[in-house]
Order: sequence, then C-alpha cells, then structure tokens
Amino acid sequence: MKKILQDLDIRGLERLAAEYGEKSYRAGQIRRAIHRGEDISSMTELSAALREKLLEEYEDVALTIDRTLTASDGTEKFLFELADGNLVEGVLMKYSYGNTQCVSTQVGCRMNCAFCASGLHGLVRNLSSGEIASQIYKVNRKEGDGKERKVTNVVLMGSGEPLDNYDNVLAFIREISAPGGLNISPRNISLSTCGLVPEMYRLADEGLPVNLCVSLHSPFDEERRKIMPVAKKYSVREIVAACDNYFEKTGRRYIFEYSLIKGVNDTPAAAAALISLLGGKPCHINLIRLNEVKERGLKSTVESDAHSFLSRLRKGGLSATLRRRTGADIGGACGQLRNGVIGGADR
Ligand code: SAH
Repeated sequence: MKKILQDLDIRGLERLAAEYGEKSYRAGQIRRAIHRGEDISSMTELSAALREKLLEEYEDVALTIDRTLTASDGTEKFLFELADGNLVEGVLMKYSYGNTQCVSTQVGCRMNCAFCASGLHGLVRNLSSGEIASQIYKVNRKEGDGKERKVTNVVLMGSGEPLDNYDNVLAFIREISAPGGLNISPRNISLSTCGLVPEMYRLADEGLPVNLCVSLHSPFDEERRKIMPVAKKYSVREIVAACDNYFEKTGRRYIFEYSLIKGVNDTPAAAAALISLLGGKPCHINLIRLNEVKERGLKSTVESDAHSFLSRLRKGGLSATLRRRTGADIGGACGQLRNGVIGGADR
C-alpha cells in the first residue's frame, strides 16, 4: 500500500508542498479538498502534474463507500473499503439536533468481548488517522454536496478499541476538531473504550475534552472477566478511579455503557452493586439491550426486564437511560455487516 495523503495535517501538507517545490497555499488547497472527501485524481484545482506526482507516493482513494443500507428509522449503515481491500463499518444516525456518525478505528479488534461481533476474527490492523477521518469526509460528501457538513457529532464506537490505536485516534480527533477544518468540537465527539486504564489517564491530559464512554457491562470483576477478557488486566475500581481523574482534569461527566445480557448482568444484585459503586459520581449510564450476534450465543434481556433494571438504577439515584436501538433491522451491532460480507458468499 502507498501512503495515505489524509494522514497529513496542515503542517505535513506544508512540508509536502515545499518538498514538491509548490507554493505554500497549495497545502491549504489540498487540505480543503481532503475535507470535501475528494480523491487525489479528482482534485482538479491542482495541476495535472502535481496530481501525478502525488499519485506516485499516495493512494488515490483512501477509502470508498462500498455499500449503504438504510433502516426503516432512517439510520444508514455503511461498509467502507480501504485501499488494501480491508472492510470496516460505520453508521449515521439522524436526530433532530444533528447527525451522529459512528466510526471504526481498527479492522477487527483484539479485545474479544464475549458478545461482540468485531472481535470474532481478531485484530487485522489499525486504521491510520486519515482512514478514520475519511469515513466522515466520504459520508459528508455523500449526504451533502461536499461543502455542507452533514456530520455534526462523532462517536468512536465502530469496530476496534480506540485506545488500543492511541496515536492515530488522537491525530484523528485533532484533525476533525481543528479550526479551519471540519471544526467538530471535542464536546461533540465521544470516545468509547473497554477500559484501558493507562490510556484513560493519558487521554485526560491531552487538553481535548471529548466525552469519555466506558463499556462497563458489569459491576462485578468476576463476571466482567467472563465477558470481557480485558477485565483480567484492570479492575472495575481502577476504571472508576480513571474516570474520576478524567472528570477532574476535563470537567466532563463520563458515561458508562451497559449492554443488557439476559441472566448475566441484568439481575437485581447487579443493579444494587451499580448503585453502591456509582452513587454520587458525575456519570450517566447508557443501557442498551444486547444486539444478539449469532456466533456469540448470548441472549438479550427482554424489554420489560430492561425497564425494571432501569427503574432500579433510577430509584437508587443514578442517572440512566435505556437507549432505543436504532437501525436494528440492518444489523446494528458492531462488526455484523462486515462479518456478513467477509463470511458470506457474495464476496
Ligand atoms: N472498543 C470500544 C468501542 C466499541 S463501542 C469499547 O469497547 O467501548 C461499541 C459498544 O457496543 C461497546 O460498549 C460494546 O461493548 C458494545 N457492544 C458490542 N457488541 C454489542 C452487542 N452485540 N450488543 C450490544 N452492545 C454491544
């Protein structure tokens, strides 16, 4: 694979312009074309000679939208193809306040959570910052005319563990939040982690107040270790301490994600333990009923039980919501679409 032009920030593009003997304004021109989701060969503002020179070193197309599925509620799911043929997924959810895009940070994942489709085939590779950003550039281009920015909010909740690809993810967040670029405020960006504690501390010191979401899924270390292998490394207490540090450093309330799995983490004892663990903390709990992944064999909590779990938490003083499942009819859970394609007969 050649290099990815979208990996360069404005300073990198300025260096490139100087190296190629181009005027420095070219850097800004290329950057704007990148943000409009243009491939190198379609950057017609540049001379044909410059485009050719770029194409010798850089991939023309960092990423394309291979296919789009639209759910009955308007949610769109994309399958993106990378320059080396690898596939990742993304989702665009449309709300009254704007559009939230869910991006992937890795091809596959090495965390291997017991309920998740992304980790079924292990980690293939990290995405570069420009590959992560191109998911947004291409969706903006598809949904708007390239000038209008359709994506207003970003969640790093697609395939991959963002904090396992720390440097590229940080470069991505800096680029899409930079003034003069897409200008998406860090406050409109949510990063979700399975709980990599040292990186959570590192993130708190970056001066980028993104929303920190942590996949908790159980208040009990023993239970958590059964469904999330990463829990063998970091305890629930250590995770909560890292979250408190994040709040102290950034002033941002943190969020716990909790996917309700029938008979596993939806018991009254789990609700009581969450209340004693998190009572009084500056956090919110996002409950969601498990999206059943057939290879994983775990069952979703039924709707009425999910509501009782929610009201237990609320009665215990916690701030919690039960998220409606958007796009459930198009294989909403991470990794389901890619697995359907790479495992299916149509490819
Ligand atoms: N690796 C990061 C980012 C993934 S975000 C993380 O673990 O946080 C996706 C969220 O959906 C995580 O909370 C993840 O645990 C959860 N999830 C994965 N598979 C799911 C499924 N089948 N049903 C419901 N939630 C799922």
